[in-house]
Order: sequence, then C-alpha cells, then structure tokens
Amino acid sequence: MKRTHQDIRRINRFAVMRHVIASAPVARRDIATAAGLSVATTADIVSELHDLELLAEIGQQESGGGRPRNLLAPDPDGPRLIGVDIAETYVHVEVFDPALRVLARAEEELHPQHNPPEHVVDRIVCGIDTVLDELQVPDDRVLGVGVSVPGQVGPNGKASVFAPNWNWRDVPLAALLAERIPYSVRLDNPLRASTVAELWFGAARGRDHVAVLTLGTGVGAGLAVHGAIYHGATNTAGEWGHTNLVLEGRRCRRGCVGCVEAYVGAPGIMQQLQDVAPDSPLLVPSDQTATINALAAALSVGDPVAEQTIAATGGYLGVAIANMINLFNPQIIVLTGWVADRLGEHLLRHTRTTAARYALDEPWEGTEIILCPIDRNPVSLGAATLVMEGFLSEAGTSSRS
Ligand SMILES: [Zn+2]
Repeated sequence: MKRTHQDIRRINRFAVMRHVIASAPVARRDIATAAGLSVATTADIVSELHDLELLAEIGQQESGGGRPRNLLAPDPDGPRLIGVDIAETYVHVEVFDPALRVLARAEEELHPQHNPPEHVVDRIVCGIDTVLDELQVPDDRVLGVGVSVPGQVGPNGKASVFAPNWNWRDVPLAALLAERIPYSVRLDNPLRASTVAELWFGAARGRDHVAVLTLGTGVGAGLAVHGAIYHGATNTAGEWGHTNLVLEGRRCRRGCVGCVEAYVGAPGIMQQLQDVAPDSPLLVPSDQTATINALAAALSVGDPVAEQTIAATGGYLGVAIANMINLFNPQIIVLTGWVADRLGEHLLRHTRTTAARYALDEPWEGTEIILCPIDRNPVSLGAATLVMEGFLSEAGTSSRS
C-alpha cells in the first residue's frame, strides 16, 4: 500500500493528539520526542489542532533559564463527540470532550424480541437528545456521532445484525440516522470500537500490531496493523470467532459448525458447564449473564465444577489464540467484553498455559496476553474515538496538507 503525504499527516496528527490526551499538560518539545517527530512538524500539527479547538494552551513551564514553555492540553471547551453502543438489550449513549472524558450518559432499553430499525433509531435519537439537553450543547458544537452496531457494517453504511430475534439484513442505518440527526455519523462494530479504544487509551497505546478479542455472547477480534485498524477487503476482517476449532463440533448462533464462538462465547461456556456437571446449581437455564456470574463467584471460592469448566474453556480459547498468534504475530493481545471481564484472571491463566503449548516459540515470545485495562465502557468510548479519528483524517484535506 502506497503511503501518501496525506496518510503520514494523518498518522502524525493521531500521534500528537494521543500523546497530549495521555500526558497533558505537556510542552511541544516533549510531544515531539514522544511522537518521534521534529519540533517543527510538531509545532505545525499543534497549531492545526489548536485551530480546530481540540487543543488549548493552559499555562507555562519554566525551562531552566530559557524562555518558559507553553503547556498544552485537550481543550475542555472544544467540540463534543458522541459515542453510541447498541447492544442486544440496550442503547448506551455518552458525550465526550476532546480529552475523551465522559460528560454525560444515557441508557435506553431495547426489547429483546422487538427490534425493528425504526424503533432502534428512535432510542438512539432519544438518548442523544437526553445527553445534549442535560449539557445544553448546541448542534454546531457536536463533531459527530460514532455508533457501534452488534453485527457487520458494510462500507455503504448498511448494517446486518445476526443476533437471534434481530432480523437485520443490510439495514441502511447510516441513512436512517442521517434523516433524524444533523451530525455526521460513523458506524462500525464493537470489535473495531473496542480496538480503537485500546489503541488510544488502553494497553495497545504505542503498539503497532494488536489483536483485541471480545468475549461476550458473540466472539470476535479487532486487528490493528501499524497502529491503525485493519478492515480487510470487504470490511469483515476479524471474524476470528467463526474460525473452526472442532471438526463436526457444536453449532454457533450464526450456524457454523465447531467455531471458536461455539466454545468460548457465553452460550458455549454454559454448554461446557452442562457437560461437566449436568445438574450443577451454577447453571441458570436460558440466562447467560446469571450463569457466567455464578461461575465467577464459584471460581473465587475454588469450586471444582467451575474450575473444571473454565479450565476446558481456557483450553479452547488458548488454542484459538495460538492460531491467531501464529497467523498474525501480534505484539499484544487484549481480552475484552463482559465474559472476559467476569471470568478475568481465572480464564486468562488456563488460556495462557494452552496458548504457550500450541503457538510457535518465536511469535509466542514476542507477544503478551492481558485483560482490558480500561475501566469504563470501551465500546461507546471507541465509537466516539472513531469520530475523532475521522475528523483528524479529514481535517484540512482541502485547505492544508
Ligand atoms: Zn460461528
């Protein structure tokens, strides 16, 4: 892929903005050192981000006899960004400032059996109205809305959701939202949103080759190459959850046979528990959340059934991660999603042991597997960060280069 002048400019803007968010208040010279840029290039980008009201000068630092240095930070009065996390049972909306700090949030419930697109769009619009009213943000101060859809998003803004009871096939969600809200809209899925959040705020900051694995009801991966999301030819890269693990094995929700999701997604873990102990009181039929919570509680007191269930699950996950390591050679693998969150270190321990056995030595030694360190909703944060990335990519494309 040929890197144009514009690509380099974009990557440099990302580096400067990421560093200011992480290290503010910070002087230009320190940004240049951290981002590996010349002081002149850094000063130029800072001035551009200042004009866009993303950065502000917030004071001075003495510099040992020389002129005092101006200190920069994300502009607290800058434009607002909105992140929306659509899940199967709720719509979560958050408003952020240019430091990607949450200023307000709203949650709208969705009916698990009734999710026509018009209804979901209504809930999103209602959530956005609530948070903007609360903060009294005028329309022209909103940079854009990032929306994470629990499925696949085509390059044309059409969404497909494969969850049971969601009959969404190529729903023109971007167009439906554009009819109702006056801001630019960016759609992607939670895998990509979580990955962008890790690149800006989590353990993947400053890393080039990253895999973020989401474990929930569904399972998937977000991949980053040279610090930017990898989309693939038709925007479906990262469907690691549907790669095969067991010939003629269990079926997943999408209908494929023996895939990773069928063994390490919440329904797969419930099945595993049932295989280990069919009458276990930990099993709450048709309630994934309650069962995973019961397993987590049982693990913390050393329950042998829970331990055996998670050892088996960690075995499957370890093999699937070893395949990912051999194919992709990442520097870091981050486990996120509510299942990873609840089962935490117990699941990670078994996963590491198995992955070490199945991965090749060289890529294994070059990687680490960790739990998501972000202590807030990474999906709405990532959706808003996608808006920031889009804005930084497009800013100045006509006037400056
Ligand atoms: Zn599958």
